[in-house]
Amino acid sequence: MTVVLQASLQHQPAADMCGSGFLQPASCIHVRTPFSSHTMSQDAFVDFQNVWLAYNDELLAQNHFAVEDINLQVRQGEFIAIVGPSGCGKSTFMKLTTGLKMPSRGRILIDGQPVTGPLKISGMAFQAPSLLPWRTTLDNVLLPLEIVEPYRSSFKQKKAEYVERARKLLHTVGLGGYEDKFPWQLSGGMQQRASICRALIHEPKMLLLDEPFGALDAFTREELWCTLRDLWTAQKFNVILVTHDLRESVFLADTVYVMSKSPGRFVVKREIDLPRPRDLEITYTPEFTNIVHELRGHIGAMRKTGAAINQ
Ligand code: ADP
Ligand code: MG
Repeated sequence: MTVVLQASLQHQPAADMCGSGFLQPASCIHVRTPFSSHTMSQDAFVDFQNVWLAYNDELLAQNHFAVEDINLQVRQGEFIAIVGPSGCGKSTFMKLTTGLKMPSRGRILIDGQPVTGPLKISGMAFQAPSLLPWRTTLDNVLLPLEIVEPYRSSFKQKKAEYVERARKLLHTVGLGGYEDKFPWQLSGGMQQRASICRALIHEPKMLLLDEPFGALDAFTREELWCTLRDLWTAQKFNVILVTHDLRESVFLADTVYVMSKSPGRFVVKREIDLPRPRDLEITYTPEFTNIVHELRGHIGAMRKTGAAINQ
């Protein structure tokens, strides 16, 4: 099911902001599914309520928001993907989700708790694997446990247990036997596998991936889709995946959200009703390509108007 969340958007001055308590201009139409209404909020694991962010006071005074009026409810264990043009606010959304940035307006709840600062229940991986070159693969994966409480204080006592956990995880993603290699001895795909292990070593409830496979060749990328699918199937943590790759979003996610640029808003919600488990063969089926095509249409329409899509 596709839902257009915002239609025919023009940038609105602050006095016109479309949120609760603000004026509702005719050009800002909210069409929400039962899933995205606030009636679901109690059950949502990630709950964004009318969230706006300006990066600093000066930008706020100019009503210059990086993201605007985000309303989003994500179920426990749901895999969502966010697609949209460069600069539309995808990474900003991630920073808000992990508490690295506080909203200028609105409220964010994760796992029922208001976000007031950096979250410990999440793991993150980015496009660049950013492994420390002087540490082995195993030691890179162990790093979060060495530096983040509550693991840090018990790291020495529990090291054997943690090493065992890291080895198991590396084995799961196909890096068994590479524990003692240094990052520069690994391929790009292997480094990214290791960085996903590092993001998961503290068994987070939520995994945030910001274009994690963007720098990899197509074959390696598809292999890593399957790795991620298997990890998620086994552990059912929440995933928020930011990607430019529509096939990737449709293959992996339960729900794909399309963001618009200027203003940075969530404009389309597409539930991916393809059966699971999904394997790569599904990407060659008409059902799959129809969804990719449909999403491409939304992005194309946005690029044409230079703003959000027209319904
Ligand atoms: P995306 O990840 O979709 O490419 P970002 O979330 O990085 O987009 O950026 C969204 C908007 O916020 C852009 O206009 C960008 O220039 C702006 N922005 C990002 N980071 C900052 C910052 N630290 N200070 C000011 N503006 C920022
Ligand atoms: Mg980004």
